[in-house]
This record gives sequence, structure tokens and C-alpha cells, in this order.
Amino acid sequence: MEIFSIVNLISNKKCYERVRQLRWKEGVTCPHCDSKTIKKNGHDITQKDCQHYQCKTCQRYFDDLTNTVFAGHHQPLKIWITCLYFMGLNLSNNQIAKELNLHKSDVHNMVNTLRSGVIKRKPEVLLKGEVEFDEMYLVAGHKGNPEAIKKSGAKK
Ligand SMILES: [Zn+2]
Repeated sequence: MEIFSIVNLISNKKCYERVRQLRWKEGVTCPHCDSKTIKKNGHDITQKDCQHYQCKTCQRYFDDLTNTVFAGHHQPLKIWITCLYFMGLNLSNNQIAKELNLHKSDVHNMVNTLRSGVIKRKPEVLLKGEVEFDEMYLVAGHKGNPEAIKKSGAKK
């Protein structure tokens, strides 16, 4: 029997919709050259809710997650969003692993990625409007002291 996880009730499609809403508030913009002259270029093969684009100015390709902290991972976006949410609730890595039905080491890597993504972010990797992800904002609140987070995280 499958172990119940709240993630089963969350829609990946809605997660992408939310990211698009936040990220492309002023229209889809090429992360390579900032052009707004873009065309849609189908959907991702494995993440079917992820919209692909091609820039008509520089001809390069990108998608909804390009240059965000969520890019380039094999876990579905909803897993990342839910992990971020649990982090905002101050759940330990062990609790998150249990809730997401994932291995502890996977969660450990995800949490580190999310934290470093928020802390070491540059303007171009920033998910636009991320403050609206309350939980991300909480994590960003520690950005003045990343070492303290690493230490407290290690004890959990
Ligand atoms: Zn471009």
C-alpha cells in the first residue's frame, strides 16, 4: 500500500501556474538577453506542465524554471514547493522526509539546494516575486548569517 503523502493531493500543474504567475508578471522574458520577443515552444517531455520557450531575439531556449532554484532536478516541481513550504514551518529534515515519503539524504540535498539558492542568489537567478512564497521569505530572512543555518541544520 502506498504511504499517504500530502504531495499526492497537490497539483503539479498548479505549481507551474503559480511559478509562471510570479515569474512572468510582466510577460515572459528571455533569461539570456532580457528580450520579450519570445515564442512558446511546446512542453517538457518529462514535466508536461513545464512550458518551453524560444527567444526570437537571441534564438536560445528556456523554460519556466530556467535560472530558478527549481531548475535541473528530477523531482517534480510540487515536491520542491512542498519541501519549501515545510521548511517555512521549521520542520526538521527527518520530518520533511517522512511527510514527502523520500529518503533522508534526498531531503538533505533538497534543503541545502533551496537554502543556498535563496542565500547566494543573484538577481538573474531570483524567482521574480518570490517574497510571495512566504516560506521562501522566511528562509531568505537568514541570509545575513548562512553559517548559522548550516550549523542548526546539521543538528537536526
Ligand atoms: Zn534571448
